[in-house]
Amino acid sequence: MGHNIEPFRDHELLALGRLLAETAYPRERKELALPGMKVDVLRRQPADAEEGEALVIGEVKRSPRAQHAQRLQLGYYLLRLREAGLHVRGELRYPEQRHVEQVELTPELEAEVRQAIQQVEALLALPQPPPPVRIPACAACAYYEFCWVAEAEPTTPVARGRSRSRKVERET
Ligand code: SF4
Repeated sequence: MGHNIEPFRDHELLALGRLLAETAYPRERKELALPGMKVDVLRRQPADAEEGEALVIGEVKRSPRAQHAQRLQLGYYLLRLREAGLHVRGELRYPEQRHVEQVELTPELEAEVRQAIQQVEALLALPQPPPPVRIPACAACAYYEFCWVAEAEPTTPVARGRSRSRKVERET
């Protein structure tokens, strides 16, 4: 993404994620898009005696399975908005589980976000990406074919479906 290489647009899980973000919380949904970030849900939190009014941004997710990465993503948004002078809180929202996880930009989370930014910037500065390393997330990744194009046959239901739809595209 840092080099403007887009994932496979018709990937089933990306489409499901888009649908969920578009249909969950219809009364609160107000997208905020800035370069490099797009917030799913936006609302004002009324002022309280201790901290005053805050802006609450929410990321809608299908499951908390990758919650550490989700916290980093939301922490990055919180950092950007705080640097723009806003008082912001975060929420990870899981409509399928009916659960909301509060996320604050604590010094610990901020340090993790800043470290991740440095690591991403170092990766982007490389003349070419390092060789891919297979991890469990590869099976459902929308970049699968960029990393594993040399493989003869995809091995997962998601990847098999993607391969079939590509085959149909080629034949039509
Ligand atoms: S296919 Fe695997 S290695 Fe490649 S981008 Fe996706 S998760 Fe990373």
